[in-house]
Amino acid sequence: MIRFLIIAGLVYLGYRALKSVIGERPSQKVSSSDRSTGKIDDVMIKDPYCEAYFPKRNGVHYRHNGEDLYFCSENCRDKFIEMKKKT
Ligand SMILES: [Zn+2]
Repeated sequence: MIRFLIIAGLVYLGYRALKSVIGERPSQKVSSSDRSTGKIDDVMIKDPYCEAYFPKRNGVHYRHNGEDLYFCSENCRDKFIEMKKKT
């Protein structure tokens, strides 16, 4: 039982050491490697309703008159649809 606890403690310390080594890396490096993997999806586009820029992959898709539109949120999409209905 004591042996098991020692091994568990060593594994935990090893895990902590490993995590601190990884944690020392600047977070910027992680995001840059992230960006290279999803480069195509990381396009910034403009919300046609609130005119805010956001990454396309986070956008809410809506097809309007055969045109693909992307909104920063479902709220903006709904407001846009409402606006189009009125006019
Ligand atoms: Zn918006």
